[in-house]
Amino acid sequence: MAEPTGEETAAQRALAGRLSGLGFALPGTLTRRYTRCGNRTCRCHHQPPQLHGPYLQWTRTEDGKTISRIWTPGQAARYQDWLANARQARQILSDLEKLGTAIAERDQRDQRRQAGQQQRKRPAR
Ligand SMILES: [Zn+2]
Repeated sequence: MAEPTGEETAAQRALAGRLSGLGFALPGTLTRRYTRCGNRTCRCHHQPPQLHGPYLQWTRTEDGKTISRIWTPGQAARYQDWLANARQARQILSDLEKLGTAIAERDQRDQRRQAGQQQRKRPAR
């Protein structure tokens, strides 16, 4: 098995440390939405339209379904960091996976090379 290099081990520890320092996390994204209502005479249907909003919409997917909630400015202020934490956690996990993949692929090459050397050592019949 290919041992992780000192550099790889240090990178893994740094990433794990960043992950352990994260607080609460929320999935999804926060967007500013401007909407049109159903009243055809409303200003949002005028030309040019004056849309309603902005509404702070938190959107996430759960079991393949998209779920949206409208937040107050206070909620947005409270939970924005949680959304950022989740983004950061996904990035850290992705970096950990890249690191692991590099080690596993190097191991794979080493195994193949060793297998090749074993075959050459075998006496010819
Ligand atoms: Zn309207």
